[in-house]
Amino acid sequence: MSGAAHAAVRHTDGHVHVDASAMERLVGAIFEHAGCDAEEARRIARRLTGANLRGHDSHGVLRTRRYVEWMEEGKVFAGRRIKVERETEVLAVVDGDYGFGQTVGEQTVDLGVAKARRHGVAVTALKNSGHLGRIGDWAERAAESNCASIHMVNVRGSLIVAPYGAIERRGSTSPFCAGVPRPDAPPIIHDFATSVVAEGKAMVALHGGKPLPGDALVDADGNYTSDPLPLYGETPPGQTPNPNAGPGALNPFGLHKGSGLNFFMEMFGGALTGSGTAAAPGETGMRRFCNGMFSIYMQVDAFHDDDWFAREVSAYVEYWKAARPLRAGGEVLVPGEKERMTMAERLESGLPLSEGAWEDILAATEKVGMSDAEVEAALG
Ligand code: NAD
Repeated sequence: MSGAAHAAVRHTDGHVHVDASAMERLVGAIFEHAGCDAEEARRIARRLTGANLRGHDSHGVLRTRRYVEWMEEGKVFAGRRIKVERETEVLAVVDGDYGFGQTVGEQTVDLGVAKARRHGVAVTALKNSGHLGRIGDWAERAAESNCASIHMVNVRGSLIVAPYGAIERRGSTSPFCAGVPRPDAPPIIHDFATSVVAEGKAMVALHGGKPLPGDALVDADGNYTSDPLPLYGETPPGQTPNPNAGPGALNPFGLHKGSGLNFFMEMFGGALTGSGTAAAPGETGMRRFCNGMFSIYMQVDAFHDDDWFAREVSAYVEYWKAARPLRAGGEVLVPGEKERMTMAERLESGLPLSEGAWEDILAATEKVGMSDAEVEAALG
């Protein structure tokens, strides 16, 4: 198949390594062929590739084919601008109108940051957004303008996580993210799903990959298990495993405390934004899939006249990392550090993908009508 023998694509032991810049160009070309303008195509490609670079493959280029299918099915739209529905000096309630999350998410964050730069703090409430991908992107973007930020996200129309103490599903893997800027160092970003594992990791385990922790799921009888099968049920031959089909559920992380945080993603990301919660009593069909994102931006300069915050953050990072590690030779990490380490490694080695994931991207090039020559040219 086209692209398989390119210098930027190296096959070893059932795995493929693709240079990040080549991957970004290829994914950008796919979205341009699918109908995005060049700028939006590059934006989506940069975000997806960026997730792989940081080690979050479940939110990276693996999504390409699904995003293209969503465009074809009218579930997500190219070229959208957010519609501001309510606005004050420090608040914007905006409708993403099912635009690409990479686009309407960026527009929303830029609006919130602009307000915070003028008024010290600001809040945005984004509803009806296409998939917002890796939420850490949004805290990073705010940090570029010296804003600390908090982001609470729900997934309307996704029922895969059970509340603590329950078997039945009531919500999703709803991510939480917080970040602080640093003047002479990368921002510190904590970004995670409020379930024990993201759904992508359960899918990997279902295919015989990295095993899950013993409390990742609850089965139909209420037992905690590492077996991903209760999420998907038995998949008929030739069909894709469906996380909506199983009798069990993913568990929220952190027992009752994480479960409560997961609940509050629905309150802020779902109810307060106007996007709507994952589901409601009495509804027979699934709600239309989207992300809702509630964000708070805090311009650091508005809180302190000097560089006190930066010095305090830097000193605390040093103090934190100096804690005696659990095991000899171990390293204590601050949030976001693991992603930066992975990025440094992957910029050198390329993005590791399974052969299946790479085939899936090549299938997306065919789907959007790219010729072999166009694939080769995009890879560079
Ligand atoms: P995860 O379990 O890998 O946790 C990541 C967080 O933990 C990061 O902040 C990381 O720096 C920190 N971390 C990891 N190892 C650490 C260590 N050893 N010491 C200290 N800190 C450490 O992430 P996840 O829950 O699998 O989420 C993956 C991604 O999925 C996130 O980017 C999230 O935003 C995204 N997501 C998006 C959606 C959506 O609907 N858009 C839904 C769910 C998840």
